[in-house]
Amino acid sequence: MIRPRDLVFVLVVAFHVSMVCSAAVFVERPFHDEPFYPSDLDGANSTKYRDLTAGFKWNKTLLSYSIINFPTGVPPNLIRTTIRRAFDAWSRYTNLNFVESLSAMVDIQLAFEGVNHYRRGLPCRFSQEITLAHAFFPEDGDIHFNKKYFFTEGASIEQFLNTAVHEIGHSLGLLHSSSRKSIMYGAQLQELFSEPQPEDIQAIQEIYGIRSAPQTTTQPPPRAITTPKPRTTTELCSLSSFDTIVTDHRGNVCVLAGRFYYNLNETNPPPRKISAKWPGLPPNVDAAFTYRDQKTYFFKGDQYWKYDKLRMEENYPRSIAVSFPGVPQDMDTILLSPTAGFHAFRGTQYWFYDTRKLKPVERHFPKLIRELGGFPARLDAALLLGERRYIFSDLRYYEVDDETRIVGESGDVRRDWFNCV
Ligand SMILES: [Zn+2]
Ligand SMILES: [Zn+2]
Repeated sequence: MIRPRDLVFVLVVAFHVSMVCSAAVFVERPFHDEPFYPSDLDGANSTKYRDLTAGFKWNKTLLSYSIINFPTGVPPNLIRTTIRRAFDAWSRYTNLNFVESLSAMVDIQLAFEGVNHYRRGLPCRFSQEITLAHAFFPEDGDIHFNKKYFFTEGASIEQFLNTAVHEIGHSLGLLHSSSRKSIMYGAQLQELFSEPQPEDIQAIQEIYGIRSAPQTTTQPPPRAITTPKPRTTTELCSLSSFDTIVTDHRGNVCVLAGRFYYNLNETNPPPRKISAKWPGLPPNVDAAFTYRDQKTYFFKGDQYWKYDKLRMEENYPRSIAVSFPGVPQDMDTILLSPTAGFHAFRGTQYWFYDTRKLKPVERHFPKLIRELGGFPARLDAALLLGERRYIFSDLRYYEVDDETRIVGESGDVRRDWFNCV
């Protein structure tokens, strides 16, 4: 999961009064190595900021939040669980509880946005393209992450968690700290704290008190004002295996199992017929991917199908052996390479096909999957999502680096991808 970047982000404290984001005050976390002065921005200055933010706090202890959209490049539920961790990191120490809601009528809206965006119907923007995120003080609290950085430019989940904990700090009323030992330091440092540090804990407790009751944030409290945290309890959660995972032309992550698919970008996705989405496609496909040309390819037995969006191209299915000589039939899955080509997996073996050469698979294939660093013995599915590659085996998933080695620990597919209880 981790792709650390060897960058050190020097502090930049940028406070300003927003002239574009309704009347609220927000703080940005710039991704910048030069000081970045408030006078550049919307006519604000730090003195004004200090006056305005004095004593900003929520006058209630149960706050609802909603994730308005999800970025490309990571499983939606990894975002959901990471944001949950970030809220839990604060409520562990102070008398605040957070509940996720599906409704947009929440205290804190979180969203992934481009430089110019809207917030609750009003224009909002990052002052610079390189801004990581910004957040509004109480009792507003909204948080916007720069979707360019999270995750198309390869930020790690640890960097995202660090920024989420920081921004939530602002949403709760904390200002920047000048200490590099604080999560509220104004820029991302090499040391990525994943929770409030001693001075942050003291600061939040000065506003909301020391946590007195056991933490109840993992379940909505009985008096929850919003709908409970959405959880999937459909057939998806009872699947013991699936055929493959593929993104469609719009980037929806679809799990294919037998005759059905589930769109993981929906909440509680129902089983839908594969043949209704991709007319002419048979059930029980072996492998699938959407290539850089946005065409979607499906493989089954000794044939493959090619779709332009949701329409099958002419003269398909075709023969795998003819179009991709040396690639086996009855594959378990295909993993696209970050450059050109793909790995095909079957049983305990794999083959590599180079799409630049369009020549038969080289003679030294097949090789043994166990020779690939850290791979499970057999694969069920594989997915290129944004810039990241994942493989799936026995309802566990693994991230694969550019050298086709496993990075980090495996994760639970049902928890992080299917959002099951
Ligand atoms: Zn900040
Ligand atoms: Zn914004």
